[in-house]
Formats: sequence, C-alpha cells, structure tokens
Amino acid sequence: MLLFLLRYTYEVSPVFLLVEEAVIKKMIEFIGWEGGDGIFNPGGSVSNMYAMNLARYKFCPEIKEKGLSGLPRLVLFTSEECHYSMKKAASFLGIGTENVYFIKTDGRGKMIPEELEKQGSAPFLVCATAGTTVLGAFDPLDKIADICEKHGLWLHVDASWGGSALISRKHCRLLHGIHRADSVAWNPHKMLLAGIQCCALLVKDNSGLLKKCYSAEAAYLFQQDKFYDVSYDTGDKSIQCSRRPDAFKFWLMWKALGTTGLEERVNRALALARYLVEEIKKREGFQLLLEPEYANVCFWYIPPSLRKMEDGPEFWQKLHQVAPIIKERMMKKGSMMLGYQPHRGKVNFFRQVVISPQVSREDMDFLLDEIELLAKDL
Ligand code: PLP
Repeated sequence: MLLFLLRYTYEVSPVFLLVEEAVIKKMIEFIGWEGGDGIFNPGGSVSNMYAMNLARYKFCPEIKEKGLSGLPRLVLFTSEECHYSMKKAASFLGIGTENVYFIKTDGRGKMIPEELEKQGSAPFLVCATAGTTVLGAFDPLDKIADICEKHGLWLHVDASWGGSALISRKHCRLLHGIHRADSVAWNPHKMLLAGIQCCALLVKDNSGLLKKCYSAEAAYLFQQDKFYDVSYDTGDKSIQCSRRPDAFKFWLMWKALGTTGLEERVNRALALARYLVEEIKKREGFQLLLEPEYANVCFWYIPPSLRKMEDGPEFWQKLHQVAPIIKERMMKKGSMMLGYQPHRGKVNFFRQVVISPQVSREDMDFLLDEIELLAKDL
C-alpha cells in the first residue's frame, strides 16, 4: 500500500522531508534571503496564522507555556485590503479581531505607509500584502520595511497570491523589498497552478525559531539519541502531526517545467490579463475599475439601457444589480463562471483572474462576447 503522507521524522518519510527542505530552500532563494526556514501547510490562511503566532512568540516567548492570561493587550497592523484570514487568525489565536488595525489603502488598494507610521499603539506584527485578493494590489514593501525596521517590528508578507511573480524576471519587481520581511506566505497552488493544496510559510530566521515556537518534543517520535542527524526530523516545526507531502507536487512540477517553464506560466498569465484589459478598453459598455498590476481584471459591464443615464446614485444602484443577473444567466446557460463582488463602496463588478495556461486570447474574447450577449436586453 502506498501511503502518500508526510510523517514528522526522517526515518519514516526521508524522501518527502528532503524534498520539502529542497523546495523551501529554492523558494527562499527567490525571496532573496541568505538562509531561512519554512513549512508547507494547508493554505495561505494557515500560513498567515503560523506567522502571526510566530511573531507573537518572538515578541513574548513565555506565551508558549504561560498562555495569554499574563499578557497585556496585543495588536497587529495590516491593510484594509488584506485577506480575511488575518481576522480569522486573530480570533483563533485569542488576539481578538478588535486588535487587528486596518491601515488605510490608496485608490489602487495599496497600504499607505504614512498611515502605518501614524498609528499609535505599538503592534507585535505588521502584515503587508503582496497581491491582494480582490484588486491584486502590492503593498509598498520597501517603505513598510523601513518603518518596521525603525520600530523593530516583525514584518510578515502575505504573498499567498502574488508570491509567484518572484519567479518572473519581468514581474518580480512587484515584490521589491520582500527580502526585508521576517516571514512570507506563498501559495504555489495559485498562480503557478501546483495541485491544491500547496502552500508554504517561509521564515527568515534560521536559528530554530520556528521549531522553538511550535515543537512539543514528543519522546516517542523525536528521540534525540537516534543514530542519524535529528535535525532532519523537521515535523515538530508543524502544528500538524501527519501532513500531506504538498512540497512533492511542486518539486515534480518544477523538475518537469524548469524555472523557465514556471516563469513562462506567470508571464503568460499576466500577458493575457493585459490583453483582456486592452479589449475591455476598446469595447463599448465595458469599464475598468482600475489599471491592474497583476492578474485581477476588475470591470463593470454597463448594459445598453444604462449607457445614457446620468452619473449619480440611481445609476450606480442600477449597475449594482447588473452583475448578479449576468452571473445567474451564465450559470443557468452553463457557458461561464465569473466572480463578482461589491468592494469598498464600489457597486458589484466582475473580477476575472487569469491563471490557467490553457486559457487563450480567444477565451478572453468569448468572455466579453458572452457578457454582451447575455446582457443585451438589460
Ligand atoms: N491571502 C491572500 C492574499 C489570498 O488571496 C488568499 C486566497 O485567496 C489567501 C491568503 C488564503 O489562501 P488559502 O485559500 O490557501 O487559505
């Protein structure tokens, strides 16, 4: 029987543990750290939780044994465009969602460093986002890192979505400054299309902080008097016991496609997103929400009946109802699935995220043609 599980110690899963180590090392190279540590885990949300707990442990190591009771109120800063997992992590870890301070973002969805600097209460963690979920915005990491450095704060970068741009020589500048982060969440299962789930939390510290924070030193697994180098028993860095060998999928894919193949995936997706943007600009009735930096193409479709209406509350109220109707029609017809949402005062708009290497320009044309067709009577 083939047990496709990664188990805690080198003696039980030698290949998977070594593969995980090799992949983490390679990801760390792309971040630009000289060394570091990391762990594959079940998702970007979990990576963010790992990082939050790790930053808190660094801030007050006694929390591991003493728990929360003796601690003052702890707060963390992140942007108002951050992924919702930051709130979930804060609630799960007993920090409390009210202690997550959301820093203002600019019109493109990027954290405003001056707003971060202005905040009074000293946080134990600043979380920047590289590739926000809705707008695909990249926070200015260098400027945020300057502030964190000045105040001695842990900087976590949630690059779950945008991290894969690091592989592309053309687009890696989006994450300029990421090497100054203390931890990074990066999901190869998003832009790189590794089989879901495939996510890593990467940590700059290589003095064993991750292990110190998470280990429970079970004597029946992690004996210190084994005949081999027990530093290979990396499983105690994880909050899980058995895990899926997620790094293995990524390793295989990387071997098969090479770094150039992965880079092409990113470049192709972003070129296709750009193509869609240019098509949207050409067509009557389509309106971009903003110029995207990444693969999130956000746009409204203004149907014929609304095109001559004056801009005002009534227009936006009516436009708000358009995307759900088109979505219902496309799903009932079975032609497409396209997400929509309202966002920060903006009425419902479509968000096309382009990643699959199987998707072509013709598909992008189809997407716009189909919206026009489905909404021609609206
Ligand atoms: N962070 C960002 C910026 C995301 O966009 C997402 C998912 O969309 C996550 C974290 C969560 O990742 P996962 O779905 O792997 O938990």
